Amino acid sequence: MSDRYCIRGCTARDSHLAACERSGNDYDGPNPCRGCAPVDAREGVLLCERCYRTLRRHLEDAADVVGHLRSIADPTKAAAYDRIRVQSSSIEIPAPVAADLIDASNDITTTMNMWANHVAGEDRPGAGLAAGAMADAAHDVVRLAADVILDDLDHLANDSHQIEALCEGVMVVNGAAPDVWTVADAAVRWPLEDSPRWAQAACPECDLMAVRVQPGRSGRPSRYRCTTSECDWEANSQDDGGLWAAVFAEPAPPEVRPHDPSLLTLVAAARLVHREPGTVRGWVKAGDLEVHLGRYREADVLATAARKRGEAA
Ligand SMILES: [Zn+2]
Ligand SMILES: [Zn+2]
Ligand SMILES: [Zn+2]
Repeated sequence: MSDRYCIRGCTARDSHLAACERSGNDYDGPNPCRGCAPVDAREGVLLCERCYRTLRRHLEDAADVVGHLRSIADPTKAAAYDRIRVQSSSIEIPAPVAADLIDASNDITTTMNMWANHVAGEDRPGAGLAAGAMADAAHDVVRLAADVILDDLDHLANDSHQIEALCEGVMVVNGAAPDVWTVADAAVRWPLEDSPRWAQAACPECDLMAVRVQPGRSGRPSRYRCTTSECDWEANSQDDGGLWAAVFAEPAPPEVRPHDPSLLTLVAAARLVHREPGTVRGWVKAGDLEVHLGRYREADVLATAARKRGEAA
């Protein structure tokens, strides 16, 4: 077990330090504590599991976000970038301004290149993005930087001098018009959406059927994220030994059954018992014969016909 806590000061919901005075049955004041016990850091790094996964997700998304921004900024330069679709933006978000798009894509590229330089042992400013950069070229530049940073993520995330700055630059959401755009800022304002589906299994943390599954983009692992506001659990298909890939696997398609000769068409059923098709359909209407996806079971047809003969006799 780790004996270190998340360096970003995360606290566990409904879990309190012994000294907490704003929780428990004795407290009936106006400002109850929602949790003050610090969250353990993930093994080997200084971030909790949640912060680590969020940071990783934004790093993985950085290239797609920049490509996305460039393709909205100048659709004529979108080129191969139509694989990213725009989610209908919510009503309170102002229409994208080209200047914001250019600022955001440039800021993210600069940040990512700066960190990639740092990982490579060169502390110099990162190159930005030319205002006329093509979406797919911009994507490739950021992808290269992201791969370098992700390769070194566990090392960076275990370095108290680096990790807070990396989080600041990548995963912190500053709000509407940030001075420097983070990947997270851009993802809030211009979301990427890869037609995620609802998972068929409950969230392991809040137990609600609220997990969205996002298939892996550009060679990245698939992701699972809880959508309830109280719980922001997330994992990818490689976390925890691949456990979640199994839990949230696409349900198997309905089994295609081989042709079953005992299932007859209406005409074949009628022929079998020497009746008119209309008569057999009448049996179904009267509830005397069961139909299975438009077919009739041979034994049922014979039994019903025999019963009818008995009734008529
Ligand atoms: Zn507390
Ligand atoms: Zn944390
Ligand atoms: Zn949840």
